Amino acid sequence: MSNTPTGARAHHAEPVRALFISDLHLQAAQPAITAAFHEFLERHARHAPQLFLLGDLFEYWAGDDDLDEPFNQHIVAALRRLSDAGTAIYWIAGNRDFLVGEDFAAAAGLTLLPEVYVTTIGGQPLVLVHGDAQCTEDVKYMEFRAMVRQPAWQRQFLAMPLAQRKAIIAGMRDNSRQDQGAKSYTIMDVTPQAIADLFAQTGTNVMIHGHTHRPALHTVGATRRYVLPDWEPAATPPRGGWIAIDGNGNITRHALDGAIIPTPR
Ligand code: MN
Repeated sequence: MSNTPTGARAHHAEPVRALFISDLHLQAAQPAITAAFHEFLERHARHAPQLFLLGDLFEYWAGDDDLDEPFNQHIVAALRRLSDAGTAIYWIAGNRDFLVGEDFAAAAGLTLLPEVYVTTIGGQPLVLVHGDAQCTEDVKYMEFRAMVRQPAWQRQFLAMPLAQRKAIIAGMRDNSRQDQGAKSYTIMDVTPQAIADLFAQTGTNVMIHGHTHRPALHTVGATRRYVLPDWEPAATPPRGGWIAIDGNGNITRHALDGAIIPTPR
């Protein structure tokens, strides 16, 4: 599919092959983020052959039996329309929405990916992750993550009534807000060692991730690490945007209005 509008061609020698977003933290209480998401789907994602959701699309996900909840239904329907229109959608779970399962994937028309995913787009090998597993200095979170990512823990949790799960998740979100106030700025970022290990393990030198809400391009030696922004269009200045890769493997960072964020040289 190369139905990229001519306006976009002016900025790309080749049509866009894939777009990447993360950390929208979609929730009924934040309609401006939902509106920005819809605009992104209609104006940009619809013209891309592939869309990668790299975690924390939702503020929380209590289980696929919550698919009937009106807000969730609304978001799933929007993803399904995009998928039906021809954009292949891929999902890597975040620390907020790791309980998404195959029922959600089928309803949204998307493909669930493992937590570390290597692909080649436009001739460029890429490693894709959410980014939480690379925040290895946050020992308390890494212990929590190891527990909740176990299938046995998830089966037990999902066996509880939906209302009880939602109450537990609300409590966790309160605790997490308090914790984040106490944790240092460094602890809540990825560690250089975890990033170097991931590049080495995957044999790649370009990475895209989110989670830290610190959008950037980090160039270290021969490696490039692109960090996605979180979305808060009502903030001053507005936060949000995406990363695009074209048919030549050229990667660009985009603000919410679609403008290319210049790369310092
Ligand atoms: Mn996250």
